[in-house]
Amino acid sequence: MSHQVIEPATEQVLEEIPRAGEEEVDAAVARAKAAFPAWRAVAPGDRAALLRRIADAVEARLEDLSVLEARNAGKPIRDARGEIGMVVETFRYYAGAPERLLGQTIPVAGGVDFTFREPLGVVGLIVPWNFPLTIASWKMAPALAAGNTVVLKPAELTPLTAIEFEKVALEAGLPEGVLQVVSGPGSVAGKRLVEHPDVAKIAFTGSTEVGRGIMAGAANTIKRVTLELGGKSANVVFADADLEAAAAAAPIATFANAGQDCCARSRILVEKSAFDRFMETLEETVEAMRVGDPLDEETEMGPLISADQRSSVASYVPDDAPVAIRGSAPSGPGYWFPPTVLAPVSNSDRAAAEEIFGPVAVVIPFSGEDEAVRLANETIYGLSGSIWTRNGARALRVARAIETGVLSINSNSSVRVTTPFGGMKQSGVGRELGPDALDHYTEVKNVFYATGDA
Ligand code: NAD
Repeated sequence: MSHQVIEPATEQVLEEIPRAGEEEVDAAVARAKAAFPAWRAVAPGDRAALLRRIADAVEARLEDLSVLEARNAGKPIRDARGEIGMVVETFRYYAGAPERLLGQTIPVAGGVDFTFREPLGVVGLIVPWNFPLTIASWKMAPALAAGNTVVLKPAELTPLTAIEFEKVALEAGLPEGVLQVVSGPGSVAGKRLVEHPDVAKIAFTGSTEVGRGIMAGAANTIKRVTLELGGKSANVVFADADLEAAAAAAPIATFANAGQDCCARSRILVEKSAFDRFMETLEETVEAMRVGDPLDEETEMGPLISADQRSSVASYVPDDAPVAIRGSAPSGPGYWFPPTVLAPVSNSDRAAAEEIFGPVAVVIPFSGEDEAVRLANETIYGLSGSIWTRNGARALRVARAIETGVLSINSNSSVRVTTPFGGMKQSGVGRELGPDALDHYTEVKNVFYATGDA
C-alpha cells in the first residue's frame, strides 16, 4: 500500500511513499530489540561521537532538508532553516549526555549503595505534522544518547524529512536497527507501537485527544509515556507594559507556522485601559504580515497543512464572528487562511476555549491582576504563555500564579534546546529538551554492595 504526500501550498502530490501497517511496525520493533544490547554497550565517548557526526551530517544537508520541510509542511523557508538548525543543535547538545549520565552514591550501613541510569530498551516516538523533524529530534537525540533504540512514526502528512533523516543517520555511521522510521497511519502503525509488548516507552507529541488514547493504550503493558499535547496559551498584556512592543510581537506569536503551533499565544489578554492602544498597533502588524509562497524568502506565513485543517479553522470564524482584524492570504490553489483577530471575546466563547490550531487569535479584555490570572488559568491546558509588564514584582507574582509549563516575560520565546519544555494540566506529562529530557529516557537502578565480613 502506498500513500500520497501533498504539498499544502500547491495541493499537488509531492511524493508517493509506502504506507507501514502492523507488520512493518512489528518488524521494526524486532530489529530495534535485536540492536539494543550492542547499542547500549557502545562506549559513552563513541556514542557521543556518533551523535556529533549525525549533527554534522544534518548540517551539511541543511538547505535541502529545509526546502523539503518547507514544501511538505507549507512553512516559510526561513522558519524551516531555523527548525533544521535546531535539529543540528539538539543532536550536538545531547552528544554531551552519554558521558554525563551520572549516578549517585548514597551513604548506607554495611556497604556501598550506588545508582545507574539505565536505558529503557526500544522506545516508540510518535510525532505530529507541525514541526516534523524538529520535534522528532527532541525525542531521538536524548533517547539515543541514553542508549535506547528507536522506532519513529512521523505524521502521515509530513513523513519526508524523517525518512531522509534515517538515511543521513545511517550514512553517518549509526548501526542498523538503532533508529528506524515507519510511516503509517496513527490508528494502525501508531496504535501498534503503543500496544507492542516489546516497546518500553512511548514519547508522543500531538493532540490532547489522541494523547488520552495513548495513555490508556500504554496502560496494559505499563509503558512509560511522555505526552506533549495541545495548548491555548495566554499572552497577558498589562497597561504598564511597553504596549508597542507587546502588540508588535503578538501576531507572530500566534500566526507563525500559520498558527499550527502548540505554543501559540492565541488568547491575548489585554488590560481594559490599554485595549484601544494595543489594538491599533496589532492591526498595523497583522495587516503587514506577508502570507504566501513558503519558498519565498520574504514570506512570514504559509498555508495550513490540509483542506480538513482549513475547514476546522474556518468553523471558528462564522459569518457573525467578531472579526476585528483580517490580514491577507493568496487565492488559488493551496490551503490558505488569512491571519484573523477576533475581539472583544469572552474567555468562555468557543474560539477562546478550544485549541484552533490555525491563524485565529482572540483578544480578551481584563481588569487587574487577579482577573488576568483567573482568565489565564481558566482552561484545561497549561503549555506556554507570556506576561508583558514593566513592574518586575508583578511579573514574578503572575509568573508563579499561571498554571503553565513554560512562560516568558516581556518576550514570546519559550523553546530552547538547553531548557526544559512541556505542559501542565491537560497539555501533557513530562519534559523535553534541556537536562530534564534524559530522566524520561532512563530508569534509575539502585545497587547495594555489602562490604561487611562474609
Ligand atoms: P494528532 O494527535 O492527530 O497526531 C499526532 C501523531 O499521532 C501522528 O503521528 C498521528 O499519526 C498519531 N496518531 C493518531 N492517532 C493515533 C493512535 N490512535 N495511536 C497512536 N498514534 C496515533 O496531532 P496532529 O494533528 O498531528 O498535531 C496537532 C496537535 O499536536 C495539536 O493539538 C498540537 O497542540 C499538538 N502539538 C503539541 C506539541 C507540544 O509539544 N506540546 C507540539 C506540537 C504539536
